[in-house]
Amino acid sequence: MSDTATTPSTVTFDQFGLHADILKAIAEQGYTTPTPIQAKAIPVVLGGRDVMGAAQTGTGKTAGFSLPIIQRLLPLANTSASPARHPVRALILTPTRELADQVAANVQSYAKHTALRSAVVFGGVDMNPQSAELRRGVEILIATPGRLLDHVQQKTANLGQVQMLVLDEADRMLDMGFLPDLQRILNLLPSERQTLLFSATFSPEIKKLASTYLRDPQTIEVARSNSTATNVTQIVYEVAEGDKTGAVVQLIRERSLKQVIVFCNSKIGASRLARQLERDGVVATAIHGDRTQSERMQALDAFKRGEIEALVATDVAARGLDIAELPAVINFDLPFNAEDYVHRIGRTGRAGASGDALSLFSPNERKQLADIEKLIKRPLDVQRLAVDTPVRHHHDERGSRRDRDDRSRRRTTGAHERPSHGAHHRQQPVDDFFFKPYEPSPSAVSASAKREEAPAAPQKPASKQPLAALLGGFGMPRKTTSSN
Ligand code: AMP
Repeated sequence: MSDTATTPSTVTFDQFGLHADILKAIAEQGYTTPTPIQAKAIPVVLGGRDVMGAAQTGTGKTAGFSLPIIQRLLPLANTSASPARHPVRALILTPTRELADQVAANVQSYAKHTALRSAVVFGGVDMNPQSAELRRGVEILIATPGRLLDHVQQKTANLGQVQMLVLDEADRMLDMGFLPDLQRILNLLPSERQTLLFSATFSPEIKKLASTYLRDPQTIEVARSNSTATNVTQIVYEVAEGDKTGAVVQLIRERSLKQVIVFCNSKIGASRLARQLERDGVVATAIHGDRTQSERMQALDAFKRGEIEALVATDVAARGLDIAELPAVINFDLPFNAEDYVHRIGRTGRAGASGDALSLFSPNERKQLADIEKLIKRPLDVQRLAVDTPVRHHHDERGSRRDRDDRSRRRTTGAHERPSHGAHHRQQPVDDFFFKPYEPSPSAVSASAKREEAPAAPQKPASKQPLAALLGGFGMPRKTTSSN
């Protein structure tokens, strides 16, 4: 690994020597000044050097690599109808479908005034339209690893002319068990290429990946690895496990949150919470690997449109989501893996905006809290939260899968009438009781026992496969119809 780029002073997009067609697109996006990662990465990528970028999500890293890629490929842009004139020259690999989709949307908008073609391929959707697009030829291909290998196998993607490779959110790709797929893909690429690796954290595994596949990379950091964004206010609320649902409702109401991602550690927990929130008058839906790709996309779109107040998500499903101006995230559970905390709170306070990261902490999560504080190298502000929302205990709390999914589907397709906000929430007069020291209630005990029914995420998955399978087949044995 080599030197670290020095911090540039005030830079403007004009100073990079980018083509007028790219500058026009940047202006149309409303970007006026480069973000720190862009200021550092763009000149290095333009210079042709490999990059190891430590940039957390929300820093603007996508434009940091996409803009110079477009610039470097511009001399090869052409309007020929022949597919042979449009080989894949830049390959961008991402861990999740959602991130692939977002990166592709960015690339598309940055390249819209050029003749360069881009496409995105990910699993869980029909391969045929993707195949047709690939056959016509694209210069910039954004892909999740499994589906890309499916296309390679079907000979709809040829990687023999790739000059630039981006491994986006590389740490997550490794966490999700993609290493074998990545190695297979890397072996298909010309060895003469430029490789850019972006990762929120630099674990020993990432360093090994970089030392194997990158050549004399320039390290670029905009924030210390494993640090959290300074524009995010972090508050930890101590509540009894059984009061957590009420606490989420209360935080949403008191803070008038119109759009919030609520993180749960398990798929079952996410589904259950979304259901409970709905009952308490919060428009909510869950996204996790058990939902189909189109259900997840629908839920995400509805959330982006502001039709859903609370998107209840697991770490894997929420990875890489870019929701403009998301005011807050709530951690219903503290994550088992402290790095996930950094990723979760990176959903808010993006690109300089401020945001709140609110975490619910029950006494049985002390270890997780200590791990997080160790990772971010500072203590978190822990406050007591008096929960005034009545906690409901339903005998059918778990519900049937079909029931849950039907409800969520109706919600995301808009076919279900939206409950009036706060219909079930009553602001109770503040009672002295709420300021008394906490005593665990029988309900809290039963709730924490119930929680154990949910599959516990290990700190590091013993086998990568089950975690990978959360996304509906990532990393599973290859078949031409695999769903990643
Ligand atoms: P990213 O970290 O690449 O996912 O980007 C996070 C968000 O910042 C996206 O919504 C981008 O559109 C936005 N963004 C990227 N670069 C800039 C910039 N220079 N100025 C303002 N917003 C930006």
